[in-house]
Amino acid sequence: MSTVILVTGGTGLVGKAMEYVIENEPAGSRFGKRPDEKWIFASSSDGDLRDLEQTRKLFEKYKPTHVIHLAAMVGGLFKNMKYKLTFLRNNILINDNVLHSCYEFKVQKVISCLSTCVFPDKVEYPLTELTIHNGPPHESNFGYAHAKRMVDVQNHAYKEEFGCNFTSAIPTNVFGPHDNYDLEDAHVIPALLHKCYLAKKNGTPFIVGGSGKPLRQFIYSRDLANLFIWQLREYDSVPPSSFAGGGSHTRIFPAVGEDEEVTIKEVADAIVKAVGFEGSYSFDTSRADGQYRKPASNKKLLSLIGDFKFTPFDEALAESAKWFLDNYNNARIGDVPEASK
Ligand code: NAP
Ligand code: GDP
Repeated sequence: MSTVILVTGGTGLVGKAMEYVIENEPAGSRFGKRPDEKWIFASSSDGDLRDLEQTRKLFEKYKPTHVIHLAAMVGGLFKNMKYKLTFLRNNILINDNVLHSCYEFKVQKVISCLSTCVFPDKVEYPLTELTIHNGPPHESNFGYAHAKRMVDVQNHAYKEEFGCNFTSAIPTNVFGPHDNYDLEDAHVIPALLHKCYLAKKNGTPFIVGGSGKPLRQFIYSRDLANLFIWQLREYDSVPPSSFAGGGSHTRIFPAVGEDEEVTIKEVADAIVKAVGFEGSYSFDTSRADGQYRKPASNKKLLSLIGDFKFTPFDEALAESAKWFLDNYNNARIGDVPEASK
């Protein structure tokens, strides 16, 4: 086997989507399985990546030639607001251990998953790779954002000092099957799917946090998986300048078009339809809205990849809702109050 691809965080939302695509696309096709590749999807039970020795052991065991680094402490707006230091520390530790192990084990290519949360709050839109470091991130998730930003700095430094091919993808909000559906800690789509499901089942109110006005750009996890596979196999050119003020490593924005931003209210409407909830719903405006918007441009991505179709939002949401409803008993639903069970 000439290529061993280790996917850290291989059991999460994005990791499961990568596994699905590798297993379900036709073998030998652009995104399907290839005979010369071995894919390893690691979970935290294979090694706690906050610990350097456990991280080294994982690398020793699999000897990856390529790494897609997804593992992270992840959560929606409300979890980010509560645990800023823990997000900062856990993600700094995970990223430092993974990247340094990649260096020590001479991994040929690393793609780390960042997030459009890393961008400055006050910045020109659409986001481009030149503006990541040009001001503080939004206050609500500064712990997570600073830890993730540092990966961009580390990639640059590993490239400059050691010539490592360490790069990143910066996706917008992601959703799909195998999400985290915790009522309080999850991202907006899985949290609202779960809330709406319980409201329908129990005949209770469906309450959406905040004003419903913020805008988000959502990417379906299986589309994102395709883009990671493309970036791993096909995209290796180094644009002349990408680090703020010049630099040498590549970054990609997996995102739908800028014109496909949707409001949180539109998300709630789509969820009501997908779940078949017939009551009315309300907004709890005492809850935070978070960043108003953070649109990214996918123009560079599309010019590089050529022919690529994103799954339409409603179709992807319907598939995700179906997966959640079919798998409720085995999904990551977190703590559900006794009265709602
Ligand atoms: P997720 O569903 O919460 O999955 C997280 C994954 O990381 C799981 O496989 C988990 O393993 C693993 N993990 C967490 N802590 C670990 C540790 N200490 N040691 C080893 N593994 C650990 O997250 P996701 O949504 O798939 O996110 C994947 C990547 O996409 C992350 O880097 C995230 O920052 C980025 N991203 C996500 C979104 C989004 O909207 N979800 C948006 C932009 C970027 P276990 O299953 O064993 O717990
Ligand atoms: P963000 O894009 O990093 O802010 O992450 P989220 O996926 O958590 O989306 C946050 C947006 O959805 C904010 O405008 C929230 O006010 C809104 N929202 C509405 N209801 C919920 C909910 O139940 N959970 C979460 N996480 N956000 C919600």
